[in-house]
Amino acid sequence: MSKLLEEFKEYLNRMKQYDHVCTLLYWDMKTAAPKLGQAAHVEAMTHFSSENFALATSEKMGEMLDGLSAQEEFEQLSDTWKFIVKNMKKDFDRDRRIPPELYKTFVQAQAESGNAWEEAKEASDFSLFAPHLQKMIDLTREMTSYTDPDKEIYDALLDQYEEGMDSATIDRLFEELKKELIPFVKAILARERSENRGQSENKAFSRYFDPDAQRKVQDMLLSYIGFRRDAGSVGETEHPFTLNFSSRDVRVTNHYYEHDPLSAIFSAIHEGGHGIFEQNVNPEYDNTRAGSCRYMGLHESQSRFYENILGRNKNFWLPIYDQLCSLLPQFKEIPLEDFYREINHVKNSLIRVNADEVTYCFHIILRYEMEKAILRDHVPVMELPALWNQKMEEYLQITPANDAEGILQDMHWSDGSFGYFPSYLLGSIYDGMFLDTLRQELGDVDALLKEGRIREITQWLNQKIHWYGSTRRPGEVISAVCGREISAEPLIRYFKEKYGEIYGISF
Ligand code: ZN
Repeated sequence: MSKLLEEFKEYLNRMKQYDHVCTLLYWDMKTAAPKLGQAAHVEAMTHFSSENFALATSEKMGEMLDGLSAQEEFEQLSDTWKFIVKNMKKDFDRDRRIPPELYKTFVQAQAESGNAWEEAKEASDFSLFAPHLQKMIDLTREMTSYTDPDKEIYDALLDQYEEGMDSATIDRLFEELKKELIPFVKAILARERSENRGQSENKAFSRYFDPDAQRKVQDMLLSYIGFRRDAGSVGETEHPFTLNFSSRDVRVTNHYYEHDPLSAIFSAIHEGGHGIFEQNVNPEYDNTRAGSCRYMGLHESQSRFYENILGRNKNFWLPIYDQLCSLLPQFKEIPLEDFYREINHVKNSLIRVNADEVTYCFHIILRYEMEKAILRDHVPVMELPALWNQKMEEYLQITPANDAEGILQDMHWSDGSFGYFPSYLLGSIYDGMFLDTLRQELGDVDALLKEGRIREITQWLNQKIHWYGSTRRPGEVISAVCGREISAEPLIRYFKEKYGEIYGISF
């Protein structure tokens, strides 16, 4: 190892310690610290992350990256270190273009905007949030003009969350989905009306379910799908998420609702999918730019593969439904067939996070089109709620009664995460493609699930996708695993096969 590389690794190790503390503080803040303790945590986190940021953007760092990028040094590096150096240099050059004052203003505005969003949502009053949203839009424009001066703004933002993705590709994919799914969902809803199933709730799922028992169900599900407990633990938060220190320490969280057991069940499987991804990245990449998958669409493809493709398949439940019933005895009165219908009930609903997997697509397409309207077409902020409602009517034939269940429902825009939403649907589109390849390589997925061999599927995902961490960009993963260009066709075919059967409709 060259002297310079050795020095660089030591430097990264120092940065890692700050990062570790910040992650731990964040975890504690979300899972344990009381309300009055939050401020001190924020202060400590700001301290340690500033120290880390100073190291990451220092002259010293610049010199080392330049040195390692010089041809003679670079050629001696292993492929992994070539990847790390090349990408860290790219990030470094990009971050250094941001004026420090602007960065500070942005972070400050994020915090204020987040608070304003919470208040506005609580009061269901968009006008309280509007000036903050305007500020986040303006600051995002300004930031992007420094980070990506040569790129169109929305494409630059998409690329930040899903490297290599652009709006031309997403337009093609989402148009394909719209063309097929709009008539498809209409046919399903017409069938429901004719069967008089309607949109009513199934009361069996809204009785009281003991949160302690729900925690046990989460444990059972996590170990069933292959989330390792020697390298992973579980916490409780308002909104479920996954966080990782390294591949050896991955944390997932959940939220248990006393009158909605399905929420925690599917969050457990979803976050478990994120967690399994992180646990199975090549440990050699731990704490480097190569580890921990940083592509949101690809990450979401794994959580959604477990949650939807596997978890909403009837065969997933066959080997474990008895266990579920013994942990939550109320389920004993619910035949598996009813459970299956309930978890795949297609209905037009207002809230994205509660949507079924088919109409979920429209929730994302709507947000994607809104983001283009905001950033490309400069639609004034005060016109956005009406535009939102108009699109809800167009795609889902329902209109929110107020802003809280309309444009204010998600927090993403409050912290300036424009370009994030498409990741969710890209994840499902990738899933359609992964499912095709999985079937070719491992055979009938229904049969594997029915026989309780889900771990074989997990192993396949580990080897094909997880192991590579961030070293393969999403487009590269798709072509390596599926050998074809990205397309929404497999996802549409999956929907038609599955829901055609459930609703007795042929397409
Ligand atoms: Zn997720």
